[in-house]
Amino acid sequence: MLDSPPRRQRTIARTAKVSGYGLFGGIDVLLEFCPADPDVGIVFERTDLTSAATIPALIEFVVPQSRCTMIQSPGGSVQVIEHVMAALAGLQIDNCLVRIDAPEPPACDGSSQAFVEALLSADIVEQDASRACVELTETLVVVEDDFVGIGAQPPRKHEYEIGFLLDYGNSPISQQSDSFVITPEVFIQEIANCRTFVLESEVRELQKQGIGKRSTPQNVLVFGDEGIVDNSLRFENECARHKILDCIGDFALLGCDLAGRFVATRSGHRLNHAIIRTLRKQALALNPHQSSFPLPKNRPAPFTPMNAAG
Ligand SMILES: [Zn+2]
Repeated sequence: MLDSPPRRQRTIARTAKVSGYGLFGGIDVLLEFCPADPDVGIVFERTDLTSAATIPALIEFVVPQSRCTMIQSPGGSVQVIEHVMAALAGLQIDNCLVRIDAPEPPACDGSSQAFVEALLSADIVEQDASRACVELTETLVVVEDDFVGIGAQPPRKHEYEIGFLLDYGNSPISQQSDSFVITPEVFIQEIANCRTFVLESEVRELQKQGIGKRSTPQNVLVFGDEGIVDNSLRFENECARHKILDCIGDFALLGCDLAGRFVATRSGHRLNHAIIRTLRKQALALNPHQSSFPLPKNRPAPFTPMNAAG
C-alpha cells in the first residue's frame, strides 16, 4: 500500500440545501451541506433529535441495513447515505457537515444529481491541507459466493477506476456493465444522474415492509415485464452506472482517496463495506498516526465505532 502524490483537501464556500422526502421512509427532509475545516471529513448531523447527533461517514460507523448504507453513533443514525456520499466523493469534496432533519436524505430523482447541483452552486474551494490517498500495491478480493464479489488491483497510473458487471439472470433488467476512471468530470458527465432501480415484482413486498411507500417511478426506476414503468433510461446501461455510483459512495467510507482498479460483479452494499473495512484496517495499521484518516474534531461528543457489519 503506497501513498499517492497528494492533492489539496476541498470543502464548499457556503451552505447549500436540498429538500424532498426520503426514499425508504418517505419522511419530509431538509438536507444542508455546510463547509467544514480540513481533516474533519464528512460528518452527518441529525438536527431533529433532542441532543443533536453527529455521525462520521466512516466505515467504523456502518451498521447492518438491507438495501442501503446506514451509519450510526450513540446519539442517532442516518440511512441511505450512499447517493449523498457519492456526490461528495465524486466532486472530491473531502470536508463537509451534512445537516439533516430526518433519518434519511431526500430521494430526489433516485440519483446524485440534485446533490451535485447543490454542491456546485456552493462553489468548491481548496484548503490548506493535503488529502491522503491509499494506493493498492497488491490484489485484494472479497466474495460472497462463486458469482458475487469485488476484486481490486494496483492502479495503472495512480488512477481510481471502478467497473461493474450487473447480471440478474432471467430478469427485465438486461445484463450490462461499464467501467470508468473516476474523476469529478467523469462523475458529473457519466455517473451522477444515474438512478436507483427496482424490479416491479419486488415493489409490493418492499412496501409491505414499509419501504418506499411514497416512492414513484420518478424517484426509482421500476422494471416490469413490459419494460420501464412511466419513465425512460438516461443511458442504456444506467443500472450498471448506478451501481458504480453506489460503489463511489460506499468506498468513500474509507475516509481518504483511493488509487486502484476495482471490478465488482453482482455485488451490493454489504461487499462494498467489506472491502473498505479491510482497506481501512490495512491503512490504519500502516499509518497509525496518519492525521488525514479523519476522526472528527469539530464536535466534542465521544464517537464510539459500532460493531463492524455489512
Ligand atoms: Zn443507489
